[in-house]
Amino acid sequence: MSTTTPERVNDLRQRLDAVRRRIAAAAASSGRSEPNLIVVTKYFPASDAAILAALGVHDVGENKAQEAEAKAAELVDSGLRWHFIGQLQTNKAKSVVRYAAAVHSVDRAGLVGALAKAMAAENRRRGGEGKPARGPLDCYLQLDLRQGQGLEPGRGGARPEEMLELADAVAAQPDLRLAGLMAVAPLGEDPAAAFERLRDLSAVLTDRYPDAAGISAGMSQDLEAAVEHGATHLRIGSDVLGPRPAVG
Ligand SMILES: *Cc1c(COP(=O)(O)O)cnc(C)c1O
Repeated sequence: MSTTTPERVNDLRQRLDAVRRRIAAAAASSGRSEPNLIVVTKYFPASDAAILAALGVHDVGENKAQEAEAKAAELVDSGLRWHFIGQLQTNKAKSVVRYAAAVHSVDRAGLVGALAKAMAAENRRRGGEGKPARGPLDCYLQLDLRQGQGLEPGRGGARPEEMLELADAVAAQPDLRLAGLMAVAPLGEDPAAAFERLRDLSAVLTDRYPDAAGISAGMSQDLEAAVEHGATHLRIGSDVLGPRPAVG
């Protein structure tokens, strides 16, 4: 497990700089403003997230509830904003709303209900401790871009036809903020084509909900295509953190 050594700080600084340069170059060449960078720290220790915070990273992403909860608790004073980006079970909603600013994987009505209920309970809990209510939870609807493309299943998300119904469900909840859409480019397809469909879906969504203009798209391999197609948030893991650490 890596810890806070000068070597690790240098390693992360160099990789982060390289990713930032790629983002700037992609934005410049497509005439778009630079999206927000969410560094995905999954599999890596909290010490890496602490280093990233010191290097000026504000947003980090995690995809497993237990791992995210533990790191967020350890780094509670870091000022980092936590984005939950993985498949989320309804029974984890309660813990996620304690630390997460955003959930990028809202893919079904049952989860919307669970998050709304958890937010209400969390604000009651805070009230009981004499603390102010937390801000609304940013919700990105995760869409499965393979649907209708004849591609192999394998990654989560709602069907694009379900988007507006799911959006209505989020918008009806006072403690949830409909932030936009999220997707992972399907394997076996040019990511640019997938991100173009996502942008078209975003146009449909913002027609009904003008404030829900977020597009969370783009990972290490395809960030350039995502920037070109209007991503507002990139979720970059391996190109900042490096190869996955050995487990255990
Ligand atoms: C792991 C992960 C990422 C980051 O992927 P990299 O290829 O490591 O950049 C982005 N989004 C989701 C949903 C992920 O699970």
